[in-house]
Amino acid sequence: MSMDTVNSIVITELRKSYDRVAGSETTYAVDGVSFDVPKGQFVTLLGPSGCGKTTTLRCVAGLERATGGRIEMGGQVVFDVPQKRFVRPEDRPIAMVPQSYGIWPHMTVLDNAAFPMRHGRNRRRGQDIRKRAMDMLDQVGLAAMADRWATQLSGGQQQRLAFARALLGDPEVLLLDEPLSNLDAKLRAKLRQELRSFQEQFGVTALYVTHDQAEALALSDTVVVMNQGHVEQIDRPEQLYDHPRSAFVADFIGNANLIPVQDVSARREGGVIAKTGVGTVLCLRSSVEEDHRTGSGGFVCVRPENVEVRTTSQQETPMLEDDEFIGTVETSEFLGDRLELVVRAADIPITISARAGLGCRPGEDVVVRFDPTTTSYLAS
Ligand code: ADP
Repeated sequence: MSMDTVNSIVITELRKSYDRVAGSETTYAVDGVSFDVPKGQFVTLLGPSGCGKTTTLRCVAGLERATGGRIEMGGQVVFDVPQKRFVRPEDRPIAMVPQSYGIWPHMTVLDNAAFPMRHGRNRRRGQDIRKRAMDMLDQVGLAAMADRWATQLSGGQQQRLAFARALLGDPEVLLLDEPLSNLDAKLRAKLRQELRSFQEQFGVTALYVTHDQAEALALSDTVVVMNQGHVEQIDRPEQLYDHPRSAFVADFIGNANLIPVQDVSARREGGVIAKTGVGTVLCLRSSVEEDHRTGSGGFVCVRPENVEVRTTSQQETPMLEDDEFIGTVETSEFLGDRLELVVRAADIPITISARAGLGCRPGEDVVVRFDPTTTSYLAS
């Protein structure tokens, strides 16, 4: 990160344990989590259920008191254990958009939007409130509904109102906890695009929580992948997909073939040579530092769309290049734009996304190739 990056949030070594039965060992829901949210960026906490995303977000909001670590926000320390500092949620420069949107049913759309200007941290007075609220409702396409009861809005409109209301509190950071999870798939996809375009339009800084990897990839500038209370990897979406640093990340984001490695050695010209049950595989991508590329264990990781496959004539034994090997088609599924194959080689199933026109049937032998430039060696 460059020196002039301004961070809206800096989280250092955050830990949170919940009270346990006396005598049992302390376990941490969040266990030493550090990351930054640069100003104007959309940062997502992504991970499976129970990995500590919501707890982290609630600690940032101040709704939960962490056990250890430090949280800075807009250049101020809002939580620090040694300094015994805890800034109350209402005094933190944040706005939270909860799963249920938290819209007030007994108020009109306009009054809902104006709420943070009448009651929040940055309270204002007079006519200005109505005008600002109306301007914002106009920008999110709700101006015509300003005088309706908030309950008369559709799910999508309620989300826009929740977003508009959050922005009217002038937060340093918007905190969003799975705001799309209550919607059906089609609306979800539409609102995902809308959320991203609003975020860009208003230049908001956002910290978002989801367990949905597609959502995280589509929305985020940076994704923080969490697993069992700790951070697995922090990267841009493309980088996470192309260069996962662990088997967990490779498997959680998209589909990946993870082939166990017996032993590895560094190749003089660069890359790693991995011996697997399928054969010897050259990996030009690696999560492992140059000095540690000798030993055993780990995985070869290759995405289904990066596995090359060609059919063989049944009569003769095919000539194989160094990085090719023979497998038997186990299943072949036609998916319109592509063919999804499972090929078994040396008893290891390999999922391949092949072109739809490739003619091959279960039981046939095929030649499979892992392209070294898109094949990774992951230490664990
Ligand atoms: P996520 O948002 O990733 O699904 P959470 O942050 O909600 O995960 O939970 C992380 C862990 O902390 C889980 O094991 C969960 O059971 C535990 N946990 C969360 N809230 C509480 C609580 N109030 N009391 C005790 N344990 C909790």
